[in-house]
Amino acid sequence: MNCEELKDLYELYALGVLDGEEKDEADAHLARGCETCRKSLNDALAINTILLASSPSVAPPRRLKHRVMASVGVERSGWGWAAALAAACMLVVALWLSVQERHRATELADARRTLMQISAQRDSMQQALNFLNQPETQQVGFGKGQPAPPRGNVFVNPRSGVLLISSNLPRLDPGKVFEMWLIPKGGAPRPAGLFQPTAPGSAYHMLSGPVDVSTLGVVAVTVEPEAGSAAPTTTPIIAVQVGF
Ligand SMILES: [Zn+2]
Repeated sequence: MNCEELKDLYELYALGVLDGEEKDEADAHLARGCETCRKSLNDALAINTILLASSPSVAPPRRLKHRVMASVGVERSGWGWAAALAAACMLVVALWLSVQERHRATELADARRTLMQISAQRDSMQQALNFLNQPETQQVGFGKGQPAPPRGNVFVNPRSGVLLISSNLPRLDPGKVFEMWLIPKGGAPRPAGLFQPTAPGSAYHMLSGPVDVSTLGVVAVTVEPEAGSAAPTTTPIIAVQVGF
């Protein structure tokens, strides 16, 4: 029996109603150490256990509940056709409920994520606008006149921080992120936050907090692994001299 054929039997197997040749073949397949099927079976067991234990609308016979709980190490006993039929009916209800539940949970999570993104973007946009309006904010452009460069501006405010706005950024590979660095004159780069493009090729990133403008030499950006790095691991794609 291959994975495809076994796929249809996980739920029955998990409920402990799989019998005879089919069960033997499923056991033999799992005994060969198929990770895909083992995982799917565990999922089916988990879903059944949760549903049978928590859902009043599918209150199972006690015996069946124990049976399902015990089926992690599935052992067989003679079940009549009535029990198998009851289990099959419950299986339909359980599956339907789990699909509904998962569908609703996914939709909710998506909506919540979108809302959070929108409000986070609005807040950081507002913060950036306030920053730009402050009279002490100084601006340095970069990337003009180079062949294929990221282009944009670095804004530095001694009280509020550093804002980088850039377009023409390279595409990030999966698992990568942009990292900004503040490099003091004659010093080592200090991490200044991670960011992703806000639109394809463009991004703005703000590091909030006081900046020692007199010692700041360069604002740079590198591509780093998702978790960020303590020191740059690639050649900067942006390096702006900001002597004030
Ligand atoms: Zn398999």
